[in-house]
Amino acid sequence: MKVYFIGAGPGDPELLTLKAKRILEESDIVIYAGSLINMDILKFTRRNAALHDSSTMELGEILEIYKEAKKAGRTVARIHTGDLSIYSALQEQLDWCDKEGIDSEIIPGISSFQAAAASLKRELTLPGVSQTLILTRISGRTEVPAREGLEDLARTKATMVIFLSTHEIERVVDQLAKGYGEDTPVAVVEKASWSEERKIIGTLGSIAEKVKEAGIKRQALIIVGDVLGKTYQKSKLYDANFEHGFRKKKGS
Ligand code: SAH
Repeated sequence: MKVYFIGAGPGDPELLTLKAKRILEESDIVIYAGSLINMDILKFTRRNAALHDSSTMELGEILEIYKEAKKAGRTVARIHTGDLSIYSALQEQLDWCDKEGIDSEIIPGISSFQAAAASLKRELTLPGVSQTLILTRISGRTEVPAREGLEDLARTKATMVIFLSTHEIERVVDQLAKGYGEDTPVAVVEKASWSEERKIIGTLGSIAEKVKEAGIKRQALIIVGDVLGKTYQKSKLYDANFEHGFRKKKGS
């Protein structure tokens, strides 16, 4: 018996890993957040698997399912969106499983920020522009520590991806503009990798208006930074004058 915590990727069922697909096919019990995941992913579950939508359940009820599954010797697949290492409420479930002697395993998934970057056809780390990626969110019901305020993070001018915050786009861009400047490019991607994906491109000065006009509030990411602009230095990795472990400079 085991509880598998599965990162189900950003939405497109083809972005599930082979391992996630196999475990879904084999599991007796599948728990998913109906409000967030693409229901097409459930087509990989066994015909007689017990399915539970966690969007209306409390943590205690979910833990009860794990406990019952342990008694009955059943395998549980707990599906989360994207990857489990960010904003997944995973830790409390893992710690509880440990305490109860329930075996668990984590299957990593493709995060929504990776799908958004792919859709924008953008590399988020460009030489001479930014070599750092900040993944963050605005303070809401979950407090962000004061030292991680958006305005302070923005002063680094590193590339930033902001989760769980598009419904507060005005507050977000106000804080970001103080660090990056109003002309910095920004993209908002809604439902990255889904068939109904939408992208809005602008600057910190213009994006809030466009996003509000489009009515985008949730299941969307804000990506900001000069990596979305046009200028950068060519990568050294493929530069003819640059040697690395697997390639000598031509003529040397
Ligand atoms: N663990 C997830 C994030 C869960 S938090 C991951 O790795 O992607 C939920 C937030 O993720 C949403 O508010 C939104 O900001 C973002 N998100 C999840 N799926 C998304 C998608 N397909 N497109 C854009 N943003 C998405």
